[in-house]
Amino acid sequence: MDWEVVIGLEIHTQLATRSKIFSGASTAYGAAPNTQACAVDLGLPGVLPVLNEEAVRMAVKFALATNAEIGRKNVFARKNYFYPDLPKGYQISQMDLPVVGRGELDIRLEDGTVKTIGITRAHLEEDAGKSLHEDFHGMTGIDLNRAGTPLLEIVSEPDMRSAKEAVAYLKKIHSLVTYLGICDGNMAEGSFRCDANVSVRPTGQAEYGTRTELKNINSFRFVERAINIEVERQIELIEDGGKVVQETRLYDADNNETRSMRSKEEANDYRYFPDPDLLPVIIAEETIDAIRETLPELPVAKQQRFVSEYGLSDYDAEALTANRELADFYEAVVKAVGGEAKTCANWVMVDLAGALNKASLELAESPVSAVQLGGLVRRISDKTISGKIAKQVFEAMWAGEGDADSIIERKGLKQVTDNGAIEKVVDEIIASNPQQVEQYRAGKDKVFGFFVGQVMKVMQGKANPAQVNELLKKKLGG
Ligand code: ADP
Ligand code: MG
Repeated sequence: MDWEVVIGLEIHTQLATRSKIFSGASTAYGAAPNTQACAVDLGLPGVLPVLNEEAVRMAVKFALATNAEIGRKNVFARKNYFYPDLPKGYQISQMDLPVVGRGELDIRLEDGTVKTIGITRAHLEEDAGKSLHEDFHGMTGIDLNRAGTPLLEIVSEPDMRSAKEAVAYLKKIHSLVTYLGICDGNMAEGSFRCDANVSVRPTGQAEYGTRTELKNINSFRFVERAINIEVERQIELIEDGGKVVQETRLYDADNNETRSMRSKEEANDYRYFPDPDLLPVIIAEETIDAIRETLPELPVAKQQRFVSEYGLSDYDAEALTANRELADFYEAVVKAVGGEAKTCANWVMVDLAGALNKASLELAESPVSAVQLGGLVRRISDKTISGKIAKQVFEAMWAGEGDADSIIERKGLKQVTDNGAIEKVVDEIIASNPQQVEQYRAGKDKVFGFFVGQVMKVMQGKANPAQVNELLKKKLGG
């Protein structure tokens, strides 16, 4: 039987406000436990929450960037449940009237086609504290620093059909919220995490299958692996005559398996009701217009500009605009060179990205700056060095040996363009390889590469390749 996979994501983005959503306590990450939890975050009697306007503005930015409806009237509701890291006994969230309504986002599939993923809604809520299990024997520690941190929970339609699509969508949202500056995107610190809802159905069946929800996955790689392993489990279960039960499951990365955490509560178990301590928030038209004015250039617009301004392919433009840092870096390289946009793109995406990847470094930690990389590309474009020698210069630059110009000078890597010097070597090589000359003249074109290689070897790769080719053709009579 053929199975179709159905996935919907709930993404929790921590909004990058300085203070919490309903109190003035700091949201900074990494402080000593419970040093950033004030009376409001602790839920002490008699305190009153005060809404952080900036959190609302950030949510509106997200709505504008995803063509979403904006909830003009916002109501905050209490979602009641007990958990040790939730001292109030309820979480303030939005239920019926969220700030972001129906929107959409385009993703590119592996075959290059574009698919639109529906965004059901995105609502504001407060984060809970953290339970710390590791440092305490037989006990659990509670850190309430995170309690009250603003979250925008972005809920998608069940529109994704594979783990790869889910990851593509997740990356798109990640790129968008970091472009907008509303989330720092730090997945290791939990600023951006997602729950994946997964079900399967026989291909062609109209109704969805029963879903399970994989909780709190905080890396792109784990999302893909968790979904795939859960899909496998569900298919096996059904094919063995079993039934998927709706439940929350935990992905265990160490064992690459999902485990049942709890069966799914019905939504109305939470007894949502409007929080009597918070007034409805009305968002005025002028406010929305003013926020629209502050939007930065968004990924899609930047991508289109990279195609028109730099003559890049859609594919390259998309890769380079995947995050704002990379796009800025690329533009700084082009600026340093003063052109050669395509060559710059290759050096950023292939050589630099490859080296960073190999060394497990982030772009921000790159030992080669944009200006330095630009300096290298400039020497390729003015033919001081060949593309091949440039790789050698790049390696030296990466190792901290200085700028391209000083490395080229010090190592004597300048390209030889003196026709007489190249001709001398060409003549030598032809004279000492009569057998290959014969083969070539007998029509074996492939031997040409042998000659190029020999000349380059003697000239330590520094001969201008175009001149080498031309001279060899002339002399060999090809
Ligand atoms: P809850 O609030 O209980 O988690 P929602 O109805 O809000 O439930 O749905 C949560 C997520 O589950 C959404 O992203 C939605 O797209 C997804 N979803 C709903 N039904 C299915 C299904 N059958 N298979 C996969 N995902 C689903
Ligand atoms: Mg859910």
